[in-house]
Amino acid sequence: MTFILPPLAPVGITIAGSTDLFPVARAFCIGRNYADHAIEMGGNPDREEPFFFSKPATAIIPGGGAIPYPTATRDLHHEVELVVALGKGGSGIAEADALDHVFGYAVGIDLTRRDLQAAAKKAGRPWDMAKGFDASGPVGTLTKVADAGHVDDAAITLTINGEVRQSGNVNQMIWKTGEAIAFLSGLVELKAGDIIFTGTPAGVGSVKRGDTLHAEVASLPTMSCTLT
Ligand code: MN
Repeated sequence: MTFILPPLAPVGITIAGSTDLFPVARAFCIGRNYADHAIEMGGNPDREEPFFFSKPATAIIPGGGAIPYPTATRDLHHEVELVVALGKGGSGIAEADALDHVFGYAVGIDLTRRDLQAAAKKAGRPWDMAKGFDASGPVGTLTKVADAGHVDDAAITLTINGEVRQSGNVNQMIWKTGEAIAFLSGLVELKAGDIIFTGTPAGVGSVKRGDTLHAEVASLPTMSCTLT
């Protein structure tokens, strides 16, 4: 038996110090995982259970670069995030074991059609078209865990055209990386190749065509993209 169509080739993220690529299986995202961002979005920063949404793997743009301004929005927002890449899957993963499943870390941007998200929230509809559109997830080069240092306590920043717009620390995450992996693995069976966007600090805002976004998490390779 053969496929009637050529299967889509997986998106591959570059890995620091390697010529190999990390194949993206799925991209999960945690919502409102920094208290100051939860507040700016009108939410409650208390430790409510984490919630997740997804982007299709095809939305991931390794390395950033030129990103087409998406259709159907007049309010595209940036959200700089630490991205966790899983080298090992599983379901019902214990929190104590969760970090053993991490292959590496990268910086990413969860691009969001904020106007569509606001309309979806108001109507009680899904966020898919606000979050999972084409090219909505630029991700920088991955750093393997052993080389990544203390990404759980690291400055996370985003500049637009050189001006700082978001500045926080990963240690402000309400649900830590291991907790998020453990919780998510109780909802779906995680696969090697899955990546998780772990939420954004305060300071989200609009970007326009021609803007250059520069995202950094401490010592991880930086990532820039320009909206075209
Ligand atoms: Mn986000």
